Amino acid sequence: MSWLTNFVLPKIRAVVSKKEVPDNLWHKCPNCGQMLFHRDLEANLFVCGSCGHHLRLPPERRLALLFDDERYKVIELPKTIVDPLKFRDRKRYTERLKDAQAKSGTPRDALVVAHGTLGGMPTVIAAFDFEFMGGSMGLAVGEGLLAAARLAVLQEAALVVVPASGGARMQEGILSLMQMARTTLAVEMVKEARLPYIVLLTDPTTGGVSASFAMLGDITLAEPGAVIGFTGARVIEETIREKLPEGFQRSEYLLEHGMVDLVVPRRELRDTLSRLLGLLRRPEPPPQVVPLRG
Ligand SMILES: [Zn+2]
Repeated sequence: MSWLTNFVLPKIRAVVSKKEVPDNLWHKCPNCGQMLFHRDLEANLFVCGSCGHHLRLPPERRLALLFDDERYKVIELPKTIVDPLKFRDRKRYTERLKDAQAKSGTPRDALVVAHGTLGGMPTVIAAFDFEFMGGSMGLAVGEGLLAAARLAVLQEAALVVVPASGGARMQEGILSLMQMARTTLAVEMVKEARLPYIVLLTDPTTGGVSASFAMLGDITLAEPGAVIGFTGARVIEETIREKLPEGFQRSEYLLEHGMVDLVVPRRELRDTLSRLLGLLRRPEPPPQVVPLRG
């Protein structure tokens, strides 16, 4: 048996494993269940070709989608205290962080900040990574948003924030809730400098994130079908013991009820943002005043 197990079996395994299909070649649409080929999905900006569902985007892809010519510079964010509460549930918080960093392949937290131009205008974009611990906002994300606001003021640039977050990071307790106040101050800095602050709500924007900077945009855009709200629909239903209306907490519902200004398909995002920034930053020259005679 040893010849079989030691020599033949590994050879057979090697041949068989080579023929295995890489598991990232096909994606299943979470909305309609259609199997989508990775290359098609990428060409379609991660929008389902069958039902139009907008799948979640990693932050780097989001930045490439929004900046002119897909060119941007990521800035290094300030270091913050790691695991200030020495928190542990089933796992240590530091271990959860390490796992998330291994998964994303970078030592960053759930936020990426970059600067470049959008429609030819200087712009700072802060994009969330939902894959990193549910895009939750702790010290690092709060500090990152402050850095983004400071950079926007320094460069006289517009600030665009793209949340994709389940809310505050519970492993940092009260310190994560503090970030709601701090990020609100960050937005104030940009507004005081009379620079545009635009929020693009993506799926999902909930909890402490929706209760702070995400709802303070001069203009609020949303991607189609994104879940946007404070408390999840199921919890609300259980509390009030009533069925919630169709499409509750979705972008389109929020647009109808005045919480969102525009719902913009992914393919039109860059043009829409560029047009809006142009209106805010390059207003038509004021009409000349002609003095009346007599
Ligand atoms: Zn679909």
